[in-house]
Amino acid sequence: MRRIAPKDWYQVTRLDDDVTSICEPFIREFYRCNIWHVRGRDSDMLVDSGMGVVSLREWVPLVTERALTAVASHTHFDHIGCHHEFECRCVHAAEADLLAHPTRVNTLADPYVADEIFDALPPEPYLSSTYAVKAAPATRLLEDGDHIDLGDRVFEVIHTPGHSPGGIALFEEKTGVLFSGDILYDGPLIEDTYHANADDYLASMERLLRLPARIVHGGHFPSFSGERYRTLIMDWLADKEKTI
Ligand SMILES: [Zn+2]
Ligand SMILES: [Zn+2]
Repeated sequence: MRRIAPKDWYQVTRLDDDVTSICEPFIREFYRCNIWHVRGRDSDMLVDSGMGVVSLREWVPLVTERALTAVASHTHFDHIGCHHEFECRCVHAAEADLLAHPTRVNTLADPYVADEIFDALPPEPYLSSTYAVKAAPATRLLEDGDHIDLGDRVFEVIHTPGHSPGGIALFEEKTGVLFSGDILYDGPLIEDTYHANADDYLASMERLLRLPARIVHGGHFPSFSGERYRTLIMDWLADKEKTI
């Protein structure tokens, strides 16, 4: 399989609300995590950091322009690969241990990571067989109701366990912007990881339904409107009721 040069690995797209999407287009869509950059007055926030196969700091200048808080929506390999490159690292307390001691198994690199998840491979010396996430112990542990304050913008931490125990969403009340992580996006959801929990998943979805989101940036797949958000959740809930 051909390899991609580091300079071509990331694709950066500026969206509304001073939110920028950074993605890894050569990873197949289902496995490709969305990395979100949010510009604040005093500092910036990064929600997730991709697979870590090419340095974000080196190849995406946006992430070094200001002080930056790197948040992990949760600790699966596709979301935390470059966290070790940033000084300020936040994760929910329930996954602090995973961020500090990642393994191929506890980050799900095993069984997911193989050459087949790519359309073209990362630059040398990348090898799917030895791929691993670097440890990045958190400098701040998050709990439900905490805030990430960028000066003029404040994001509330919403604990959304289910896909994983320490999953979080981040909600900005002022703008209705929601970063939802992997609990909800506009694509096939993963409800059967080794640390998934069906009761927690249901409770998280019921809680998310009450949130007045206007625009939602998920952990995977394209962003969507608040209306689509409510439809996705209601359809999911209706589906669960049928199977009970
Ligand atoms: Zn993911
Ligand atoms: Zn995940």
